[in-house]
Amino acid sequence: MSDYDYDLFVIGAGSGGVRAARFSANYGARVAIAEDMFMGGTCVNVGCIPKKLFVYAAHFHDDFADSAAFGWTAEAKGFDWRTLVDNKDTEIKRLNGIYERLLENAGVEIVTGRATVVDPHTVAVAGTQYSTANILVATGSWPVVPDIPGREHVVTSTEAFYLDELPKRAIIVGGGYIAVEFAGIFNGIGVDTTLMYRGPLFMRGFDQDVRSHLAGEVDKAGVDLRFSTNIAAVEKTPSGLVATCEDGAKVETDLIMYATGRAPKVDGLGLEEAGVKLGDDGAIIVDDHFKSSVDSIYAIGDVIGHMQLTPVALAEGMAVARTLFGNEPTKADYDYVATAVFSQPPVGTVGLTEEEARERHGDVAIFRSTFRPLKHTLTGRDAQTMMKMIVDKKTDRVLGVHMVGDDAGEILQGIAVALKAGATKAVFDSTIGIHPTAAEEFVTMREPVPDPVAEAAE
Ligand code: NDP
Repeated sequence: MSDYDYDLFVIGAGSGGVRAARFSANYGARVAIAEDMFMGGTCVNVGCIPKKLFVYAAHFHDDFADSAAFGWTAEAKGFDWRTLVDNKDTEIKRLNGIYERLLENAGVEIVTGRATVVDPHTVAVAGTQYSTANILVATGSWPVVPDIPGREHVVTSTEAFYLDELPKRAIIVGGGYIAVEFAGIFNGIGVDTTLMYRGPLFMRGFDQDVRSHLAGEVDKAGVDLRFSTNIAAVEKTPSGLVATCEDGAKVETDLIMYATGRAPKVDGLGLEEAGVKLGDDGAIIVDDHFKSSVDSIYAIGDVIGHMQLTPVALAEGMAVARTLFGNEPTKADYDYVATAVFSQPPVGTVGLTEEEARERHGDVAIFRSTFRPLKHTLTGRDAQTMMKMIVDKKTDRVLGVHMVGDDAGEILQGIAVALKAGATKAVFDSTIGIHPTAAEEFVTMREPVPDPVAEAAE
């Protein structure tokens, strides 16, 4: 081992940083980790975990209503925001403690405070300097709000988790993961919710059928969807906030939440002074083994901006630990990374969209099914699930699978394993379904939809 105080100094105790620190220590490295806020980072404190708890809260609205069709007499007497926030905070405190113990049990030294990189082998925290053979920057990302007049009156998802009071009306700006998830949460817990997206259809980058089907379902659920709409300015008035849109329309509301992307958190870290190169988007540029332009400085997670997803940061953290201390140079494998959007209904997706598949593979077969879930045959709720599969006609390999509907995230995790193993459509077809489930539809889709490309050529 080196003459430095540590073999690895990790900056940021979020998902990726904690994973890298623990596994490096397990390999016998002397590791320290600095954190200036809460153990667990965005995911645990102001991201995945509290978001999913809020999504559960939002579901009860429909569940109470639907229960009548199954013979129940249930009446929701009201919703108490404070109870939800307090219970969520208690659970997060518990998780913060678990993260701390995991690090301590692995022998990682926790240094509390904001860290800066002094030079390629020195980190400073709260006036103390630590020497280290390697530095791992895992500082994550932070929500960005465009520079519009009145931006001081808007919140982001970070503050939305701690609102003192639930607003009566809310506008969510953005059309990505966080915007659709929060629109579903606010709408479900009784807030009069508007989602404004600057383009013609939200969820850019997702399969076109997913985007349009989700828009239909979110609209039916009662969210006021306003596409091709963007806010130019926000004003505070005695009765709330007024958003002036770019077309001049004014909308009154109580809360405006921006979900317009997250930027890598590099400010004030001293990275550029130490010689670390950043991309145009501010993300740290790394090689396949997460090494920056400085040999001893590595970076993983949101701060490198590859895929802003917790499980990806975990994989990157593992790769760094193995590469540096496990004698096993490891890259992260970004193929077939499945994701779920916890909108209502949720989206699950793995592999290529139809558009990407046509571009890269040319001749593809599309299988698509839209149906009312069994539960709603009794409730009468006008909810439709959409499932889609994209198959390479030449190899029969399944290139992409997409779903909008209940349990999409749970279902797609298993499908992701199949796709990663190289499953062909014939493998799906020979798999016997689990009945009655929605998921069985994925092994019973037999007829491709008419090929628009071939039809156009006729
Ligand atoms: P996204 O990048 O997903 O979406 C940002 C949205 O904001 C896009 O619709 C974008 O529009 C719009 N936008 C960007 N800039 C502006 C602007 N200046 N004015 C108006 N609209 C703008 O970011 P999110 O903030 O939703 O989430 C950040 C990341 O966090 C996600 O990409 C995802 O990786 C991760 N995440 C994952 C979750 C999960 O796994 N379930 C949950 C939440 C977050 P356009 O499309 O036109 O560019």
